[in-house]
Amino acid sequence: MQRQRCEQAAAAAGATVTEVFEDGGFSGSRADNRPALQRLLARLGEFDSVYVWKLDRLSRSARDYHNIAYLLQKCGTAFVSVSEGMGGSGAVGKMVLGQLAAVAEFFLDILKENVRAALDENARQGRHHGQLPFGYRRSVDKTVRIEPDTQQAPILRELFRRYANGESLSKLAAQLNTSPANSERRWTSALLGTMLRNRTYVGEIAWRGQVYEALHQPLIDWDTWSVVQKRLMENKSVPASARKRSLSPLFRCGVCGSCVRIVWGGPESRYRSYECHQRRTVPREQRHIGNSISILKAHALIWRAVEYFLGEEAIGQGCRKPNRRDRNAERRKLERERDRLDEHIAYNLEAGANNAVPLHILKRQNDPLMARLAETNRLLAQLDQAEEQLTELRATSPAQIVELLQSQDPEAQRRFAKAFFSVIELHDGFLRFVPTVPEVLPFDVAIPSGHPSRRREPVELRFLT
Ligand SMILES: [Zn+2]
Repeated sequence: MQRQRCEQAAAAAGATVTEVFEDGGFSGSRADNRPALQRLLARLGEFDSVYVWKLDRLSRSARDYHNIAYLLQKCGTAFVSVSEGMGGSGAVGKMVLGQLAAVAEFFLDILKENVRAALDENARQGRHHGQLPFGYRRSVDKTVRIEPDTQQAPILRELFRRYANGESLSKLAAQLNTSPANSERRWTSALLGTMLRNRTYVGEIAWRGQVYEALHQPLIDWDTWSVVQKRLMENKSVPASARKRSLSPLFRCGVCGSCVRIVWGGPESRYRSYECHQRRTVPREQRHIGNSISILKAHALIWRAVEYFLGEEAIGQGCRKPNRRDRNAERRKLERERDRLDEHIAYNLEAGANNAVPLHILKRQNDPLMARLAETNRLLAQLDQAEEQLTELRATSPAQIVELLQSQDPEAQRRFAKAFFSVIELHDGFLRFVPTVPEVLPFDVAIPSGHPSRRREPVELRFLT
């Protein structure tokens, strides 16, 4: 009877009935135990309109009803209650559906806010919530929430200790996987890395960018924790996808030393930027600002810096820093020192040969002189090596740079840049280029303001003292 009336109403509105959903014998009070209704909701997008006999046939629960109305509106499906003459694809029907959906959304928001507020309060009071970290078990004490697990806690402490002592994540993961005690878990270095960063272990709760003191018992002491965090930061690698298309492996954060990652946004929101990898993961009070540069600008600066490096002023005189070292003066000084030591040692030996000085006194005099001579020779060799390296780099012509840039081969570009700079530090407002040649001092270049240009206009290198 109800079904017939619905079909008639649909036909009257010019609709073709493609499918009928009936929940015979099921209560309308709850939506989740009515299979036909669930089937309908899952396929809502396939229908132009849904006809029901009465509103309460759909669901007797106001909340379910509002949620269904919300779904209907999201799918753009019209809704008609036949006996109540309500709904349809007309203006009134849309308005009713819209209002119902708005009410549903409102309640959903309230629910979310309540949950969030409860979790905030939990964190503030130091109570753990969420997933159970390895090393802990649920506690019967409801204020503390978690307590050390007698089997897992020693394993966890051992992991921290061994990583702090220099063992690698992959090695630790492999050992855990083959250990007889392990059965249910599959350990990876990524999983271990996440675990070793979990502040729960030092008795803290990290929640939405804030850190709170926790009530539960810590498993790791602060000394071990900070050694581990430092190692993790140093060893963190740039993800392979980012490495492929960028010069990011050249960069390091000038503040914390971690690698950079590629993000959308940053100072010029339309472009991709390099940004300190830790910038968004460290607690707010330790976060450093700046330390982000658009990729276009960064690359333009690198190629200008290479050009500068190839110019006589860069290579010939070190760089334009007030404390620059003149390598030729340095070499002359070292050579004079070497000659003086040579002479002194020869004189002493001669005196010894003539029995003018007893041998043990001669040895006492000559040993420090020999040590100084060795050191001087080492410095001179280093200068020679630097000179050779520079000669090699100087053989690069500007035409080669242009060719390299046009080739769009990131692998080759990276190798090329790596030949000049061992690392480029990203600071707030400037880049510090550290040349591969030890005799050339690092130099700081200001990051130019304004938007980067896709046209390869030469950027100005502004040196900072
Ligand atoms: Zn940083």
